[in-house]
Amino acid sequence: MSAGASGIDRLVVVGASLAGMRAVEAARADGFDGEIVLIGDEEHLPYDRPPLSKQLLDEALDVPWFHTETHYRDDLGVELQLGAPAVGIDPERQEIITVDRAVPYDAAVIATGARPRALPGISGLADVTTLRTVDDARRVRGALDEGRRLLIIGGGFIGAEVASAARRRSLPVTVIEASPYPLERALGREMGKALSAMHARSGVDLRIGTSVVELERHGDEIVAAMLSDRSTVACDFVLVSVGAIPNTAWLRESGVALAPDGGVVCDRFLESSLPGVYAAGDIAYFPNSVTGRHGRIEHWTSANEQGALAARNAVGHEKREYSTVPYVWSDWYGNRIQFVGRISDQAPVVVSGAIDESRFIALYRDDDRVVGAVSVNEPGRIMKERRRIAQGASWSEALAAHAAPAH
Ligand SMILES: Cc1cc2nc3c(=O)[nH]c(=O)nc-3n(C[C@H](O)[C@H](O)[C@H](O)COP(=O)(O)OP(=O)(O)OC[C@H]3O[C@@H](n4cnc5c(N)ncnc54)[C@H](O)[C@@H]3O)c2cc1C
Repeated sequence: MSAGASGIDRLVVVGASLAGMRAVEAARADGFDGEIVLIGDEEHLPYDRPPLSKQLLDEALDVPWFHTETHYRDDLGVELQLGAPAVGIDPERQEIITVDRAVPYDAAVIATGARPRALPGISGLADVTTLRTVDDARRVRGALDEGRRLLIIGGGFIGAEVASAARRRSLPVTVIEASPYPLERALGREMGKALSAMHARSGVDLRIGTSVVELERHGDEIVAAMLSDRSTVACDFVLVSVGAIPNTAWLRESGVALAPDGGVVCDRFLESSLPGVYAAGDIAYFPNSVTGRHGRIEHWTSANEQGALAARNAVGHEKREYSTVPYVWSDWYGNRIQFVGRISDQAPVVVSGAIDESRFIALYRDDDRVVGAVSVNEPGRIMKERRRIAQGASWSEALAAHAAPAH
């Protein structure tokens, strides 16, 4: 495909991270030879985020760049505009407006991701951080290097990974989770509870059903956190990890329809309400025909797939629909946790291994269909579950696959 053939001579991608990087790669891989501009607000080249809460916290402090600057410029023919936040879109003139210029587009992919949710009265204070960027990871790493006493607010995946990194160094860690059921939204009550038991086994003080009311300081230093259950936890460094919200405030005056959760409303081709403007990654709120649900997915694999598909749809002749069985992984305390699909109201059933042995697969059922699966330390097997869910396998088929001897 060449520029002009599809009537598109200039593709502008906003958000220079995973989905944005995949968008420019895919456009070129499909033969698009028009101009490509990649706009990002971070000063850094695009880098990968999962290692920020894993390897980067204890191994060599190498930033996981996707590519060198030369690769974007010379191999992909991409003009990088970094450190340049987009502040709006002018749909009449077909321009992306950044802080210092207007960038014309024929087609655009917006992939501005999400940022950590803030906790009023706590976020923004000294020795309190979130973890989304490489600079955040350096702060957390610095705290671990100094042997700080960590308080993690939020018992989700990222909080658990940082707790795990602290325990690898035998540092004291407390995790505060407001819900009585950690990871309930991601894994359901039963599995959330089962996996959260890893915290206690690894020496983490997990406090559930409570929240931080106030941080106590001596001078500039945090010394303790007061909790809503009136208990106090000694700590001197705080990570706030209570979810993320889409970076779409910059689109509010642009005529792009936004979902109640702030995501960019897309059709099944990932096109937004502005013709020629597509969305990808953590911000894309789309109808997923596999799960039958509308929503955003905040996982690496979806951002990767959506970036590529959005760019191909933006510059190509034929549009392809996006649907997926969501997939996420997380690494805590030496265990690989993987989840595919969605949870359901029915309790999941362990079909292989045992929770106590930290090696198992459990399936989630909705009526007579298998809709989700979680595994611990079974990395080779979860993708089979993902395929079965994509194929709409029945519950009995899914159970039978585990009853049969493995080949
Ligand atoms: C610490 C951490 C660990 C993770 N671990 C896992 C994991 O183990 N498994 C998994 O499946 N997923 C994981 N994820 C989630 C995964 O990394 C994200 O789903 C993925 O990064 C989303 O990619 P994205 O390109 O949509 O958005 P982002 O990576 O958020 O990138 C968006 C980019 O757009 C920029 N931007 C924002 N506003 C503007 C603007 N106005 N103008 C220009 N640029 C802008 C942002 O600064 C950012 O650079 C992790 C995330 C984090 C933070």
